[in-house]
Amino acid sequence: MAAELSNVIAGEKVPGRRIFEDINPADGSLVALVHEADRDVVDRAVKAARAALDGEWGALRVSDRVQLMRNIANGIEARFEDFVAAEVADTGKPGHLARELDVSRAAMNFRSFADTMATTGLDAYQTDLAGGAQALNYAIAKPLGVVAVIVPWNLPLLLLTWKVAPALAAGNAVVVKPSEETPATATLLAEVIADAGVPAGAYNVIHGFGGDSAGSYLTEHPDIDGVTFTGESSTGSTIMRAVAPRVRPVSFELGGKNAAIVFADADFDATIDGLTRSIFLNTGQVCLCTERVYIERPIFDRVAEALVERARDLAIADPSAQEKSFGPLISQGHREKVLNYFELAVEEGAEVLVGGGVPDVAEEFSGGSWIEPTLWKGLDNSCRVVREEIFGPAATPFPYSISSNNTPKSGWSTPSCFCTAGEVSPIF
Ligand code: NAD
Repeated sequence: MAAELSNVIAGEKVPGRRIFEDINPADGSLVALVHEADRDVVDRAVKAARAALDGEWGALRVSDRVQLMRNIANGIEARFEDFVAAEVADTGKPGHLARELDVSRAAMNFRSFADTMATTGLDAYQTDLAGGAQALNYAIAKPLGVVAVIVPWNLPLLLLTWKVAPALAAGNAVVVKPSEETPATATLLAEVIADAGVPAGAYNVIHGFGGDSAGSYLTEHPDIDGVTFTGESSTGSTIMRAVAPRVRPVSFELGGKNAAIVFADADFDATIDGLTRSIFLNTGQVCLCTERVYIERPIFDRVAEALVERARDLAIADPSAQEKSFGPLISQGHREKVLNYFELAVEEGAEVLVGGGVPDVAEEFSGGSWIEPTLWKGLDNSCRVVREEIFGPAATPFPYSISSNNTPKSGWSTPSCFCTAGEVSPIF
């Protein structure tokens, strides 16, 4: 029988009226049956968070909270392999990636925000007053209150803890809605947080989808004090509208369309290593991944050929295996979206350098959402494929020339992004 994942409110498992399936994208198998939160369940979660703030959790001193954050970090490490297994089953990502990136960063997030809370000072400044007196203005940190935490599926535990750790360290109570694609690690974290000694109601988990489901029920709830969200830019816009009537603050990390710029005097091997990682890490499903590579013309062919070789070498293997391997996309639906961009690239005039389709995989993975690492050339900056976020293992290398008026800088760089696509206008 498949495992069941319930909502977790004030430490209790709370069923939902509807159930949805959590699917392993490596082979299409059923991971768990998940209880979807309706409006009543969401309301119960927000009330539990409010009660925690008004009760034992809200009464803790900073030093107590800091100690609890460290206990949570230790608890994640004690159950490290449980988190790895849950993340690998939900995302299909290779085990080494879940170990090196997702789960280790989750523990570190709690530790580093404990340190930040324990050591960071606050601003104070003086202002002159009439008559020669002075006023001392100073800031005091207070929790915002009940914070809605809504996260995506690409780095489920890492991005969740990147929000939950600072929110709890600062004394807020949270209601967390993980992605419908990846509900497991947020639920497991509820056990670790309870075992760490955090009072019930400070951390609550509700499951479900976005619009007309747990996500929108949460952002529309009249008693939340703020929303922190990571996901698509269009979803961010919807959430902003949902909280606008009550003027609640938001903190967003949205989509990206990042460029790498390669200069002719770059360290070639380091550049290829860096680009391979920045284009294909997590099967390209990272908002910081590179989807456009501007390469100075004299080394364009050499860089493009080396990247094609690296793309061919990426092994497609069992994600639970220890070796370095390349995982599937998150779902069949997301693969459809990425394959549509593959078709569009060809329609827009691309020459496919490598990939461009669905790979042959072993029979046991034939139900998975596998896709080929892909590179094109021959596109220009007006193409949709070059302007819109694909969120898959695909990039377009472009040649550029530097005019004699410009002073080139050495090396290669990937500008990181938080909110919007940066624009690079190469000189061809
Ligand atoms: P998404 O926006 O579809 O979903 C993210 C979360 O929002 C999910 O939990 C979803 O259920 C919820 N949601 C969807 N609609 C909602 C609504 N109307 N109200 C409330 N909640 C709603 O994003 P995704 O497909 O899960 O993730 C991929 C996207 O996330 C990409 O665009 C990627 O660039 C972005 N991302 C950004 C960062 C960053 O740090 N900037 C990091 C990771 C991912």
